[in-house]
Amino acid sequence: MSTMFYIITTIAVVMVVFTIVLMFSSTLRGKMLSKQVKSMKYMMDESKDDLESISTDMANATKGGIETTTRAIKKGLTEEEDIYCKHCGSKIDHDSTFCKKCGKKQ
Ligand SMILES: [Zn+2]
Repeated sequence: MSTMFYIITTIAVVMVVFTIVLMFSSTLRGKMLSKQVKSMKYMMDESKDDLESISTDMANATKGGIETTTRAIKKGLTEEEDIYCKHCGSKIDHDSTFCKKCGKKQ
């Protein structure tokens, strides 16, 4: 009879301890998680300015390239157009000031 009592008591104690450990660990996990979230948020806030400056630098760096490309495209497009003399109507070069045929200024 006393053996039975011991077994039941042991089971009860183990269950109580187990519940306490579970509760404690979940609280600990929650605390750790919130700490992690807080530190992540802090890191994000700290690096926000850096990220902004980096993206600005990148935008400035690519701006020149984009401008050059745009200019090249524009040049290519305008060069494809045929230009004719205002006076005699013959085809002339895109960058020429005078007509090859009649010699008049464009
Ligand atoms: Zn001409």
